[in-house]
Amino acid sequence: MRIDIMTLFPELVETVLSESIIGRARAAGVLDIRTYNIRDYSEDRHRRVDDTPYGGGMGMLMAAPPIYNCYAAVLKDGECAPKDATRVIYMSPRGKVLDQTEAKRLSQFERLIVLCGHYEGVDQRVIDEIVDEEISIGDFVLTGGEIPACILADAVGRLVPGVLSDDECFEKESFEDGLLEYPQYTRPPVFHGIEVPEVLLSGHHANIEKWRHEKSVEITKKNRPDMAQKLPPEEEPKKRRKKKSPAAGEGE
Ligand code: SAH
Repeated sequence: MRIDIMTLFPELVETVLSESIIGRARAAGVLDIRTYNIRDYSEDRHRRVDDTPYGGGMGMLMAAPPIYNCYAAVLKDGECAPKDATRVIYMSPRGKVLDQTEAKRLSQFERLIVLCGHYEGVDQRVIDEIVDEEISIGDFVLTGGEIPACILADAVGRLVPGVLSDDECFEKESFEDGLLEYPQYTRPPVFHGIEVPEVLLSGHHANIEKWRHEKSVEITKKNRPDMAQKLPPEEEPKKRRKKKSPAAGEGE
């Protein structure tokens, strides 16, 4: 997969996306992540990229021409995926909030072109012209789209086949099956006097699976009641079972 990131701060993005699993996948050629400095495409002799908003108001807005020029250069840089396999995304607090389902959907594209805003945002005309969708990383406002773009590239990139090794598989993680992950333990067997749950040392595969599932349900109910509400009825505690008995009165 190719991810092109258009930004005023490419070093910031490069620093984050050069390390660890994503850095390794880039070195191996599984992920082709490129950064482009929007300032390089300014037509202004002082390389300006921002200006005051029409209609007044606080702060500066990123102007349309450097972003459009940058986008045109990105399209010309290297082999292009077909238009329907490419998605142009503007990182924005106004966008659809990123979650695991969205990350999976976006990982199906061959190429993502990501625009990072800064200051007060971006001239609407360039958004209307080049952007397919706006994505937010949550209901809060950051100073720039660089950290959101790194989050998007990480969340989407790790789902691309070949990025995670077999033992880093994502199939049993949080959000799969609408559940959060169960607690995990590794050596030493006793830490600060606390032992690893016995069932995990039992070698009894079915019991371990059952325990993990129960813990996942428990944690999801505690931490994310919104997710727990969507669980199938068999995950509900059996507290209302009494009602089913013919002896149970109506006024229970
Ligand atoms: N004035 C804008 C916020 C601008 S913040 C508004 O009220 O909507 C500056 C830039 O940071 C944005 O252009 C966007 O690219 C990025 N950004 C800020 N918060 C974000 C979030 N929650 N998700 C994604 N991008 C965000």
